[in-house]
Amino acid sequence: MACPPVAVAMLVAGNWKMNGTRVSVDALTSALAARAHACEVLVIPPAVFVPQVSAALSGSTVALGSQTVSEFESGAYTGEVSCTMALEFGCRYALVGHSERRALFAESDAQVAAKFAACKATGLVPVLCVGETLEERESGETEAVVFRQVQAVLDACGVGAFADAVLAYEPVWAIGTGKTASPDQAHIMHAALRERLAESNAEIAGGLRILYGGSVNAGNASDLFAERDIDGALLGGAALDAEAFEAICAAADAEMAR
Ligand code: PEP
Repeated sequence: MACPPVAVAMLVAGNWKMNGTRVSVDALTSALAARAHACEVLVIPPAVFVPQVSAALSGSTVALGSQTVSEFESGAYTGEVSCTMALEFGCRYALVGHSERRALFAESDAQVAAKFAACKATGLVPVLCVGETLEERESGETEAVVFRQVQAVLDACGVGAFADAVLAYEPVWAIGTGKTASPDQAHIMHAALRERLAESNAEIAGGLRILYGGSVNAGNASDLFAERDIDGALLGGAALDAEAFEAICAAADAEMAR
């Protein structure tokens, strides 16, 4: 049985990855902070820029996030940032399980689940990223892979932990490649993910924001947002360009007004 999503504000999140300088980050942040949107806007800068961006966002409705967080509270974990530190410097959200963290930094499903749990324990809102590689899609494993990634979090944290969390479906083959999933391909997975969570708790599944990520741009955002189970976007490349970011937020605003 289909599980309909309930109406929630769309979320457009921009992950700046390891890009930017003091000057470019200032320019981008001020451009975004100057506009008002009906959708929720979230920027996710590299960790060293978090205090700078937090200050520049003061008084605006744009939210701030961390690109990753440690699963540990404190201690001898060189290079890591704890959830408490992220919160103390103004972050409200944190990405967990971005495919680059999984692939390049060998983050396992269990570690991602521990990071999700750490976010929930401290009050950061986790944005759990899941998605299949091209090889996995071509061998018919898409659902199995993304369900496994979600199940690891369900097993560790329980379905209740998805209340107020965010899920991002990001097919790895669409990230940074210019190859977007078609609205239909994306919607099939979003609906399947919502259904899967609804098996544990329909209310939480219905209220969960599921973002699509993978080469979203100003030209394809409206078509993606028109799909019922797509509640916003996680941007990479487009988030580095104030005009493109703004245009995507405007497409989300327009979808919310329909
Ligand atoms: C991402 O890295 O999460 C992403 C979606 O990147 P891009 O928009 O550049 O494909």
